[in-house]
Amino acid sequence: MIIIKIGGSIQKDERDYELISEKIEKYSNNEDKVLVITSAMRGITNDLISATENRDKSTEIIGNIYDKHIKILSKVADGPEFEIAFKDLSKMADELFKIAWSIRVLDEITPRVRDYILSFGERMATIVLNAALRSRRLDSIAYPEPPLVTDNNFGEANVLEDLTLKEINEKILSKKSKILIIPGFIGKTIDEKYTTIGRGGSDYTATLLGKLLNVENVRLVTEVPGIMTADPRKIESATTIKRLSLEEAVELAQMGAKRLHPRTFEPMFSSNMKVTIEGLYEEGETIVSGSCEDEDKLKGVTILDDLKMINIESTRIVGKIGSAARVMAEAKNSNVNIVSISQPASETTISLVVNSNDAEILATKLKEIKDIDNIEIKDVSAVSIVGCGLRNNEIFKEVENVALQYDILSMSRGLKNVSATFIVKKEEGYNLAKSLHEVVLKWIN
Ligand code: ASP
Ligand code: MG
Repeated sequence: MIIIKIGGSIQKDERDYELISEKIEKYSNNEDKVLVITSAMRGITNDLISATENRDKSTEIIGNIYDKHIKILSKVADGPEFEIAFKDLSKMADELFKIAWSIRVLDEITPRVRDYILSFGERMATIVLNAALRSRRLDSIAYPEPPLVTDNNFGEANVLEDLTLKEINEKILSKKSKILIIPGFIGKTIDEKYTTIGRGGSDYTATLLGKLLNVENVRLVTEVPGIMTADPRKIESATTIKRLSLEEAVELAQMGAKRLHPRTFEPMFSSNMKVTIEGLYEEGETIVSGSCEDEDKLKGVTILDDLKMINIESTRIVGKIGSAARVMAEAKNSNVNIVSISQPASETTISLVVNSNDAEILATKLKEIKDIDNIEIKDVSAVSIVGCGLRNNEIFKEVENVALQYDILSMSRGLKNVSATFIVKKEEGYNLAKSLHEVVLKWIN
């Protein structure tokens, strides 16, 4: 059996569905079963979210969502397949209209209802994709109900693995068709309420099911041909990374190399599966397998440039137990995520790097702590380099020598030293990233 996840960004027109069908057909040749996990069609999850937020327009938005599906369906499916899928989509849209209408009237929404609404994106996508495959005479079936059983932490639900495995075996793998199309991202609680597992959760659905079902190969099919050494829109010489160890993949996913769910690679720590990230339009793929023990290379550079550093200075916090804890508690209470932290051994300054639009909120709160003398905010970039090779002294020295040509405000190391992050003034970020990228290209093979 193989698992193939079809991204949402590559489900937007007739040509996409043609390429997707070809790919699924190709990979199904030597397999007894193919489990296809789909995201919602391009833009649909965002549309659904906007329906929950602009409740006075919710029914119009749902109307547009329905139209988009039917329009594509009419292009990718032929006679009888169109008829069947049309009926299924219309039934789902009816259900969705009812709920859109009720949140419009009540002008109120709960996390549970929000997840219920979001679930329609993936469920409707299974119907369209199945109709497209069947119109090309492939032996497929859609199972639009959530494959995952989760707790009731709506919006960010946690998967209950044993129950999920049971559900898949009983309800999905028991189907006779060779190609089984199921929704990613959504789950249901034991009492059958719809849940979602966090944005981008279809990738995580695929790898998690890969682990539970002991599948050797999981393919994540997306817009870009694999994970790149840098964002090609920012750094021209960026190329596809051929292989990533698990540790490197985790670091890159966290730092936004491709918008992957942060837990995408987690299931790989307890299984032997190989995950391939590949493009639909161009040749090129990144294979994620094995660990740092197998090699010593550099893989990529990422840059986050919409950040601010908050320097908290005081001679009165020196040596005082609990000072840092108070600062962090304010971040927690203000619901602000900390991107990077540092403090010198003199303990006179604590520096926090946060997203730009969080900085003022947090600084205002921190000013209320009376032992703090001064708070300073500056625009910064976080430039990170990733690769198991950073654990090798010779390579790390080279990286450091390049970085030291810039004004480094702080440096920190990631999981098992597989990444290093340098905080620099915002204006310097791009140049540092470019310089570090040169080092990556030298040590990538
Ligand atoms: N459709 C969901 C989202 O846009 C899940 C996914 O695409 O992985 O976040
Ligand atoms: Mg997606």
